[in-house]
Amino acid sequence: MGEEHMNSLGIGMTSQRTRQRMIDRLRDRGVGDERVLMAMAQIPRHLFVDEALAHRAYEDDALPIKFGQTISQPYVVARMTEEVIKHHHPAKVLELGTGSGYQAAVLGQLIDQVFSIERIDKLTRIARRRFIKLGYQNIRCKTGDGFAGWPSEALFDVIICTAAPEKVPYSLLDQLEVGGKMILPVGDNKKQKLVAIVKEENGYHEEILGDVFFVPLLEGVVR
Ligand code: SAH
Repeated sequence: MGEEHMNSLGIGMTSQRTRQRMIDRLRDRGVGDERVLMAMAQIPRHLFVDEALAHRAYEDDALPIKFGQTISQPYVVARMTEEVIKHHHPAKVLELGTGSGYQAAVLGQLIDQVFSIERIDKLTRIARRRFIKLGYQNIRCKTGDGFAGWPSEALFDVIICTAAPEKVPYSLLDQLEVGGKMILPVGDNKKQKLVAIVKEENGYHEEILGDVFFVPLLEGVVR
């Protein structure tokens, strides 16, 4: 069967080959960590978006999920994941902003223990079902306000935030190991920077990684 015909049946666009093309494009754009590319090659991103958008799941775009939120663009997921595992191998990671669960799944391929917090309860439930269906026993998620972190599970080696606060919530550094890293977009709906903050014995070191655009990190929980 020709690929065009397969696509018309909705099979081609979700095939392993289509996914591999996304990986090749990420490599072309400069994603160099093969561990990250391998992890993303193994995850069926089309199962993290609404069925109506499944045919676009392997384009390098952010896509809408429910409640006005978005699944991050594959390139941004890859870049942030590279940053998570750069220089050291974290064992315990906290994500703020579960959304579709895709970024958590990528981390789940690479890291022993992944914790993820989402403020919109319905999204938490949908993501949890996906983690179970796909067999991720190392990802735990809950509905909560990411600004509070997950104190009962701290300390973490990395905290990664996939929604943008207007200012760095420095209090979250209390939930990081010394030597641990927080990676987050910071800014408003006009301008945001991706920032990496490494916690040191007496203070922290901050590095700006580039321009990004994420939905805002909002306070409170939606039930
Ligand atoms: N990592 C996600 C990206 C989702 S978009 C993915 O791979 O699909 C960011 C998500 O952050 C949204 O679902 C939004 O509801 C959530 N969010 C915003 N503020 C939050 C907060 N304070 N705590 C937890 N989640 C939050």
